[in-house]
Amino acid sequence: MLESWSNLVFGMECVGCGESSDSLDPWLCKSCSEKLKSLSKEVCCPTDDVVCLYPMEAVTRKLVHLLKYRSIPAMAAYLVEHSLALQETPEVLFPGCSRPLYFIPVPLHPSRFRERGYNQAEMIARALAKLTVGRVCRWLRRNTFRVSQTKLSQRGREQNVAGVFVPNYPRFLPARGTAVVVDDVYTTGATTGACLDALGKNFPLDVKVCTLLYDRPASATMDFVADRQAFWNATG
Ligand SMILES: [Zn+2]
Repeated sequence: MLESWSNLVFGMECVGCGESSDSLDPWLCKSCSEKLKSLSKEVCCPTDDVVCLYPMEAVTRKLVHLLKYRSIPAMAAYLVEHSLALQETPEVLFPGCSRPLYFIPVPLHPSRFRERGYNQAEMIARALAKLTVGRVCRWLRRNTFRVSQTKLSQRGREQNVAGVFVPNYPRFLPARGTAVVVDDVYTTGATTGACLDALGKNFPLDVKVCTLLYDRPASATMDFVADRQAFWNATG
């Protein structure tokens, strides 16, 4: 474990395939980097209001696990900056919507924040804001603790997150622009949906959602297993 950690830290081992390589970028070998590049053209839009930068595949799942469980916040910027779709056409984030974009990270529970040291959604929001000349706005707050989302059915997830978030935006909001709720993974939309509910019907700006990954709901149960495995590995 120590060895794999030091390889990870000192960049000898590709985090995608685990192979040693002397041409890391600094996380992926050439072949995994090519794979990421081709995935980055597959922006997923589960609805008109939601943009996910990558599909959930082995390599993207691993990178997001590093962001969430291995204390590598830089992975957020890495993934945003390697999105070819976003680099080539920043308007892929909601063409025709009023600018600037105000990125609202899904708030992390304080106990998770203490464990992790950062909110991964905020790291993603910062990278998106930098690339699109937008702003990060903490316009939501988290109310109470709930159990992990990944093991629940869609209905369970919806009930589980209802009322978790509360608005935290200023009285005077910008007159124009679009608010974008940011999270790491979009599956059923329950979490980001609860965020939109929390902003409320009278929220004056258009509201959209952007995440790094799109995971089809049917595969989420399998991801739960991978997710827990990554968590156990990371926490020893
Ligand atoms: Zn590799």
